[in-house]
Amino acid sequence: MVIDSAATTQYDWIRDRIVQIPRVKLALTPTPLQEAPNLTAALGGPRIFIKRDDLTGVAFGGNKLRNLEFRLARTMAEKPDTVIVGLDLQSNSARQTVGACNKLGLKTILVLEGKRPDIVQGNLLVDYLLGAEVIFAPTREAQREQLDLAARRCRDAGGCPHILNDNPMFDVASALAYLETTLEILEQMQRAGVRPTGFYMSSSGKGQAGLVLGRWLTNAGIEIHGVTATDEFHVPSRTAAIANETARMLGLGLVVSEDEIDNDIGFVGKGYGIPTEAAVEATRLFARTEGVVLDPIYTGKAAAGMIAHVHAGRYSKDDVLVFVHTGGTPAIFSWNTLWT
Ligand SMILES: *Cc1c(COP(=O)(O)O)cnc(C)c1O
Repeated sequence: MVIDSAATTQYDWIRDRIVQIPRVKLALTPTPLQEAPNLTAALGGPRIFIKRDDLTGVAFGGNKLRNLEFRLARTMAEKPDTVIVGLDLQSNSARQTVGACNKLGLKTILVLEGKRPDIVQGNLLVDYLLGAEVIFAPTREAQREQLDLAARRCRDAGGCPHILNDNPMFDVASALAYLETTLEILEQMQRAGVRPTGFYMSSSGKGQAGLVLGRWLTNAGIEIHGVTATDEFHVPSRTAAIANETARMLGLGLVVSEDEIDNDIGFVGKGYGIPTEAAVEATRLFARTEGVVLDPIYTGKAAAGMIAHVHAGRYSKDDVLVFVHTGGTPAIFSWNTLWT
């Protein structure tokens, strides 16, 4: 079955709304959608496609480049010369922000929570390569102080800083980005003549909100499965709140409730940032069947969730799943002992 022309008209209507929002071009899109027949055979289950958002084109790629298009458009309106951002030590978001700022001709100062490790690896290594100034802060409070201090220093030197943490767009920008990605995937599937059953994505609520809106607006009948990499907050309520905020911004009379959000907390393991055996296994399986590299912190855990659901018999061979690869691959290098 293919998606009918009424749905295609609906796509234009959604795109017309998104086009109103200021944006800078950063990501290489549309990213490829690739079938994974060896993975399907290894699991003995449904057809699986991989949406390659690890290939968004800047500094190892990933999902954050899509939302940075909206966030940095807002930043650029203030005409800064320096972007200052506080994030985690091994943040994928930090790496992609530095790469994006380089493309826009902006200097970046990263204030990362944690201590400088003895061996600089993974995302942090790429941050240095990209030329970011890196400041370490031991706590969240110290990080906030360092952000303000860096901004003051920059102003005192005659510069014009922008603290990205104070830009309120992160949630909505991610949802807009993944609403658009839903259309991209559905169009790619339509061209392949395949109707998807469900999407899987590593989610802490932002991008998933966009997929959920996309499902509603296109009436595509797909199930949206998020798998969280963190247990530090309640992802379903956050996802619903972000979906609703985004719907309001787009002028849509649509309300999503948290009971409609499917987000599996069962694959976090010991906590955010700590690999699990299942994530390592899933990362190995994707690599060995398809040559696709995941990571043990986000996408490996999401893949572990999808694989567990397939093994539990949730899907038949007639089902078609799309695994959204959100990036994060440099983490394999900071967890180098897991693979040999
Ligand atoms: C940030 C990140 C996510 C989570 O994205 P949200 O939009 O915050 O849910 C998933 N995967 C990777 C690799 C990430 O870097």
